[in-house]
Amino acid sequence: MAVHLHEDDLPAGVLAPGPVAVDTETMGLITPRDRLCLVQISDGRGDEHLVRFKPGSDFAAPNLKAVLADPDRVKLFHFARFDLAAIEHYLGVTAAPVFCTKIASKLVRTYTDRHGLKDLVRELLGKELSKQQQSSDWGGAELSEAQRDYAASDVRYLHAAHAILVERLARENRTELAQACFDFLPHRAALDLAGWPEHDIFSHESA
Ligand code: MN
Repeated sequence: MAVHLHEDDLPAGVLAPGPVAVDTETMGLITPRDRLCLVQISDGRGDEHLVRFKPGSDFAAPNLKAVLADPDRVKLFHFARFDLAAIEHYLGVTAAPVFCTKIASKLVRTYTDRHGLKDLVRELLGKELSKQQQSSDWGGAELSEAQRDYAASDVRYLHAAHAILVERLARENRTELAQACFDFLPHRAALDLAGWPEHDIFSHESA
């Protein structure tokens, strides 16, 4: 198990076939303003790859984009909506098909309102995630060891969580509903980018 840091793109051929866990780190929560700094990706076999983009990057990254846009690879995210918008805006690809562990958690863990990755991983897998570096400066020249570990840990448990959530969705007969939500996620991200970030177009409210 190792964390690999790459500049500007993923090397070719480092990922085994199958679903990949993906996360992003940015300069903040407003996607067009706050640039994409890091994409973390793992094939679930124990290694995490961090792809770092420096200020002024052209975000060419052909290998990374090929993986993200591969229609035969499911991308596992926790809160995919944010990552999909950042990937679409900066890398220009739609990272679908998607499985979002946060949406799956909301659909099956109806006994709690704690759907953060830390709470989910603790309950399903008994692992403790540190969130200390969550709000750190991802745009610096060097990433600290703590930042690299934090960034890698955000994709480390998504395959295991996914396997359990798939079973729970089936048990509660919500697999189809979950899939419909996942399929809508790229469009939800597009609405965010197009100027409807908080407005719920399904709501009765007019404004
Ligand atoms: Mn993260």
